[in-house]
Amino acid sequence: MNEDVESKSSVGVIGAGIQGVCISLSLVKKGFKVTLIDREEPGKESASYGNAGHFSSYASVPFNRPDVLVDVPSMLFSSTGPLSLKWNYVYKMIPWFLKFTKQCSKKNMMHTAKYMHQILDLAIPAYDELFSDIDISGLVESKGILYFWTKKDLKSRELEINIRNELGVKQQLLTPHEIHDLEPHIKKIYHGGVLYPYARHARNPRKVLLKLFNLFLKRGGHFKRENAQSISFTSDNKPVIKTGLNYYTFDKAVIACGAFSKKLTDQVDEKIPLDTERGYHIHFKGHDHLLSRPVIFLNRGFGITPMEQGLRVVGTVEFGGLNNPASKKRILNLVNNAKYLFPELTDHYDEWLGFRPTLPDFLPVIGPSKNYKNLFYSFGHHHLGWTLGAISGKIITRMIAGENTNLDLVPYSSLRFS
Ligand SMILES: Cc1cc2nc3c(=O)[nH]c(=O)nc-3n(C[C@H](O)[C@H](O)[C@H](O)COP(=O)(O)OP(=O)(O)OC[C@H]3O[C@@H](n4cnc5c(N)ncnc54)[C@H](O)[C@@H]3O)c2cc1C
Repeated sequence: MNEDVESKSSVGVIGAGIQGVCISLSLVKKGFKVTLIDREEPGKESASYGNAGHFSSYASVPFNRPDVLVDVPSMLFSSTGPLSLKWNYVYKMIPWFLKFTKQCSKKNMMHTAKYMHQILDLAIPAYDELFSDIDISGLVESKGILYFWTKKDLKSRELEINIRNELGVKQQLLTPHEIHDLEPHIKKIYHGGVLYPYARHARNPRKVLLKLFNLFLKRGGHFKRENAQSISFTSDNKPVIKTGLNYYTFDKAVIACGAFSKKLTDQVDEKIPLDTERGYHIHFKGHDHLLSRPVIFLNRGFGITPMEQGLRVVGTVEFGGLNNPASKKRILNLVNNAKYLFPELTDHYDEWLGFRPTLPDFLPVIGPSKNYKNLFYSFGHHHLGWTLGAISGKIITRMIAGENTNLDLVPYSSLRFS
């Protein structure tokens, strides 16, 4: 980077979820003048607030896999399963589903797995760089993440385990006995499992996000609580962000609005097929002794993470867009599933609906806009956007600074949808 010129460059980042906050912090550390814009207080109700808190750098096996298509009908009609549709949204999602179906070949699945692995493998070291400047004691724990399943679910699990072995992902297969030794309070319904011992979890994702955000402010970053309505460009190609209150002109801009990014990318002549997989959480207070690390029961596609707020039960993939109300049925599904594993659980509190930003090939969009060289994107990280915050921030910063990343970034480009 040319320090004299670039250190004075201004960058506007839209979206203060984990993506926007990590990008903004990474940019100020590099000497850029950064303004972060969000219509809400950072991490207030967004996906980055309510997720399961997993730093799951092993999770390179995507959802676009051949066996998913066979399993979808039975998953949709199962009352305990993770999948659900808002029927009034189905017709709007048909183009997304058609693109997704095309991505479910073995070849495309392996392409996604390879390029998710490329960035997932760097995810935890990238967070370590950011965490070295803040106190995260008590907020991030390294106790590993545990998955388990019954015999009925063995075939799907074999596929994942084999792909992870091929990619060199470390995993520790467990017998039922070993699962019981690790988490003795879970009802013994399982026949097998796997532990990712190096995986971490956040005990309060929003508090972690706010620590990073406060460091951004301390390093000279600015925050505007405004709704970005549109983006236009000056005659010399500088992005102009129009909010409800102001026009801001920057040297560069980044769209990092998670599942809401499409509203802005549609305005700059992109056809990025971003949609959302809606997910839910609930909390159970006063049962902390039941669990020491995050667990996922794969047959029913839900997980429980021990957090400051209590046991956070997280799950569901609901296709229903950004505007439909939350489904009581999906909340009930989480309550019943949690009580299936821990019958002693009593009343839950705090019902939350969030929006995973998802593209049909289950790769994020990270990189410059197709049409405007001073506009960059970082969104579409689906189930892994929390894990991928710091590394995406690092990649976008290097791109803006004109530095090499030594990574193959072509697969994340929005050009793949042109
Ligand atoms: C139930 C659930 C569980 C999950 N569990 C995990 C997990 O364990 N591990 C993991 O890695 N990932 C997990 N995820 C995924 C992860 O949470 C998301 O991928 C990630 O939080 C997306 O971050 P983001 O910054 O891109 O978007 P968001 O967190 O959605 O933030 C986007 C921000 O943009 C703002 N915004 C939108 N439009 C505008 C506008 N026009 N103007 C101004 N501001 C705007 C919003 O207010 C918001 O603050 C989970 C997601 C869900 C829903």
